[in-house]
Amino acid sequence: MKPRCAKAELKHQVAVWAERLEVDVNTVAVRSMRTKWASCSTEGNLTFNTELLGFDEAVRNYVIVHELLHFFVPNHGRLWKSLMRAHLGPYEDLDLELRRQHGRARSQEDDSRSAPPPSLSSLGSR
Ligand SMILES: [Zn+2]
Repeated sequence: MKPRCAKAELKHQVAVWAERLEVDVNTVAVRSMRTKWASCSTEGNLTFNTELLGFDEAVRNYVIVHELLHFFVPNHGRLWKSLMRAHLGPYEDLDLELRRQHGRARSQEDDSRSAPPPSLSSLGSR
C-alpha cells in the first residue's frame, strides 16, 4: 500500500503540535518499527512508525499528541487523560480507530500471521 502521507508531512505535523503544546523536540525520526507506534526519549527524540503514514490524519494526531504529552506527564494517569481530552476531544475513539486501521492494513498483507499489534510507549514505563 502506498503511503498517503510523506515522512516530511508527518514531521511537519509533529512540529506544529510541538509548538502548540510548547514541547522542546530535539529530533523526529520516522522508521518502521515492529512493536511500537511511537517512542520518545527524555532527550526530546521522537520516533514514529512508518505505518502511521498510511493512516488518517486524526489518528496520526492522536499518536503525536499522545507522545508529546509524555514530555509533561510520563504516564497515562488522570492528568494525562485530561490533557488528551482537552486537545483531542474523545481520544479513546481515536485509539480504537488506530487499531482498526492497523487491522485493515494487516489484512492486506501476506505476512500478517499472529504478530502482536504495535503499542504506544510511555516515557517512564516501556
Ligand atoms: Zn503513552
